[in-house]
Amino acid sequence: MSKQSQEDYLREMYSLFEESSDGNMNSVDIACKLGVSKAAVSKMLHKMKEGGLVEMTPYSAVAFSKQGLSQAEKVMYKHRIIEVFLVKILKVDKKKIHGEAHALEHYFSDESIKRLAKFLGCPRNCPCGHNIPKIKKYD
Ligand SMILES: [Zn+2]
Ligand SMILES: [Zn+2]
Repeated sequence: MSKQSQEDYLREMYSLFEESSDGNMNSVDIACKLGVSKAAVSKMLHKMKEGGLVEMTPYSAVAFSKQGLSQAEKVMYKHRIIEVFLVKILKVDKKKIHGEAHALEHYFSDESIKRLAKFLGCPRNCPCGHNIPKIKKYD
């Protein structure tokens, strides 16, 4: 499994995490978000569990570990900062930014994204209106 797909899992799971009231996610929703099979999700979740990123809770719910949450926040942070950059500076059509941010989020280094955020005036929301997660060590 590539680094890219694990980061995409983390990011899509983060948006489910944001929507949930108790911080739990379930594999059906994850499969739906990523457009992959339930079997693929189980396989990835197993891997992420071994890597200490998620914890399984009863009733087949999944929760981020502390480490998993901070990695997920970081990918989502990159995604949303890039979205702001595409709209605010490059004037890219809002409808087209998700796919491009999805590609670029895997290539920006922590250092460059920090500089990009600063350049953009440390935005708090992405163009779709979502909160940009606060990354402590970036502030
Ligand atoms: Zn992506
Ligand atoms: Zn957005």
